Amino acid sequence: MSATVPASTPARTERGTHRAQREHVAALHAYLTRYDLVTWTSGNVSERVPGEDLFVIKGSGVEYDELTWEGVTVCDLDGNAVDGVKKPSSDTDAHAYVYRHLPEVTGQVHTHSPYATAWAARAEEIPCVLTAMADEFGGPIPVGPFALIGDDSIGRGIVETLAGTRSPAVLMRNHGVFTVGPSAKAAVKAAVMTEDVARTVHLSRQLGDPLPIAQADVDSLYARYQNVYGQ
Ligand SMILES: [Zn+2]
Repeated sequence: MSATVPASTPARTERGTHRAQREHVAALHAYLTRYDLVTWTSGNVSERVPGEDLFVIKGSGVEYDELTWEGVTVCDLDGNAVDGVKKPSSDTDAHAYVYRHLPEVTGQVHTHSPYATAWAARAEEIPCVLTAMADEFGGPIPVGPFALIGDDSIGRGIVETLAGTRSPAVLMRNHGVFTVGPSAKAAVKAAVMTEDVARTVHLSRQLGDPLPIAQADVDSLYARYQNVYGQ
């Protein structure tokens, strides 16, 4: 795995556009390593460019310790790189599909964080048994379908699964975590919280069966939290 562009990648010219946003998104990746959500070069953060049909996303194979704004590539909403020296993440098509179909989404994160991905490997949703889950996710964290990289199937699975839930996170079966938000930072927070509750609910199950929270209480916790913290 090299941080440089393979010879087969079409040449791109670095024009240095959207530099402040690329710096911001590069910096947000530090949360993924701080909270142990990623290994090696896996995982990525993206953010829509305000007022343009573009988004910025981590370059493919860029190591976290070497990630600067130049490791973040500008793409159009079909996932084509338009500015940057790095080939965009291999998950770019999934991010592009979500941006095309969900105009309210401004940021996305993808990780293989271990506890949440363990639930994904079992295709088991994380039940809403913690008040923090009711606050953040408004219910269980759902599971999306099995999908291979290389076409629209991951993006389509994310969009279809999000349509049936209040959760900003989806566990794609046998794969990992995809989160969305009104900003890249909000999507990062959702990814951090997904791993946190995946771990706690897993630990709880080692003690026995976690107790469910009544739907009316989930609804009221969610409404209060979303009003106070404004999502
Ligand atoms: Zn992945």
